Amino acid sequence: RPTIVLFTRDLRTHDHPALAAAEERGGGVVPLFVLDPTVLTRSARNRIAYLREALADLRDGLRAVGADLVVRSGDTVAETVRVARAVEAERVHLSADVSAFAADRARRLRAAGARERFAVAEFPGVTVVPPGGLVPATGDHYKVFTPYWRAWEARPWRRAERPPRRLGPLPEGLDAGALPGEECVERGTGRLSPRRIRGGEGAARERMRRWLRGGCSGYGEDHDDLAADATSRLSADLRFGCLSPLELARAARERGGCDPFVRQLAWRDFHHQVCAAFPLLARRDYRPRDTRWRDDDAAFAAWCEGRTGVPVVDAGMRQLLEEGFMHNRARLITAAFLTRELRVHWRRGGDHFHALLTDGDIADNYGNWQWVAGTGNDTRPNRSFNVLRQSRRFDPRGDYIRRYVAELADVPAPRIHAPWESARPASGYPEPLFDV
Ligand code: FAD
Repeated sequence: RPTIVLFTRDLRTHDHPALAAAEERGGGVVPLFVLDPTVLTRSARNRIAYLREALADLRDGLRAVGADLVVRSGDTVAETVRVARAVEAERVHLSADVSAFAADRARRLRAAGARERFAVAEFPGVTVVPPGGLVPATGDHYKVFTPYWRAWEARPWRRAERPPRRLGPLPEGLDAGALPGEECVERGTGRLSPRRIRGGEGAARERMRRWLRGGCSGYGEDHDDLAADATSRLSADLRFGCLSPLELARAARERGGCDPFVRQLAWRDFHHQVCAAFPLLARRDYRPRDTRWRDDDAAFAAWCEGRTGVPVVDAGMRQLLEEGFMHNRARLITAAFLTRELRVHWRRGGDHFHALLTDGDIADNYGNWQWVAGTGNDTRPNRSFNVLRQSRRFDPRGDYIRRYVAELADVPAPRIHAPWESARPASGYPEPLFDV
């Protein structure tokens, strides 16, 4: 009897433990993806667009080894049960995930399996080290990054799985179903960014190869330079599992000189293990603090639209709108500006990011927002964060600002960082929203 491999955010064939174990078992493999309306309506349009491309690519990848991707639409558990009945599946394999939604889905799937007589097995693959794979001496989970990083570095990793060689065809009579159409993008949140990244395992692997050959070894030096844009841009590929984080971490480690980059992958794992332990991360303060928030709708709207009058903040927010992506340094600056200067609640900022980011991920997005706002696991929650100093330091020539803020295209540095100080303010550019 066959094994269903339920794909969720692991849309690849390389180093896919759940798929490799199903192939190894024999008895046939039925790869399945369920387009769940609950997920769809909470997803950014940018993510749905990426997802469509990733599914098309996954189907091609599976067809190349003799199989196909079965696509269904509806509640994931109900649709999986339906397919399991149709093919008389013995097992369902899936990659373990950490969000509250994913944990509930796995629980419901196990309950359905117990009723319908199929086994449910969860596998690693979403992070390098599985959440819960590292436990501090005090028990529970790691709340601070540095000790987590030390333990993460010292831990041996699992070996990467090879991609499937040959999977049999789908069981007779099972319709593979159509890939989601373009119309489903409209059901998402935010807007579709004109310069968003292209999705899918093929494109992701090409980006990974280029990165490992090129920028990876210079990452430690250049990653904070806003204009250089010298980071990997692999976040959406990791978000959808078009790349295996383990394969990437292994390859970067082997390459040498890439330790600062590998450390960022540990940050990703760190936030996932926090989210596994604290599934309400997206809604509640991880460490409640007496922080006073203001409900300033006008300031929030100006921030969202990139017209706060603070050039580096506006550049970041406009990059987000244009690309569905923002440089990490700009994410830090814009988030600190919203929560520390405008004193608007981190949840509103996090939700806005989540509605647009192609790499938008519950653990990484809200974990970082709470870290910046000082309600999360930063060891120095009240650190001062001077936006203008950041602007001058990380975009000294003003090239990043000029790239995204057309009104300031002719303003030279250093004036571009604080145009209000100049006798001739740039035309059409707003006055700063706060007392700089
Ligand atoms: P690189 O600098 O090349 O880093 C490599 C990879 O490491 C990234 O692709 C990402 O997977 C991981 N990584 C790097 N920094 C972090 C970090 N601080 N936390 C977690 N993972 C990290 N990242 C997301 O993937 N999804 C999000 O929704 C997200 N929201 C964020 C919100 C805020 C307020 C902040 C400050 C950061 C957020 N990040 C998020 C982390 C980081 O900004 C992005 O991962 C990074 O900018 C993506 O670009 P890159 O792929 O070129 O990263």
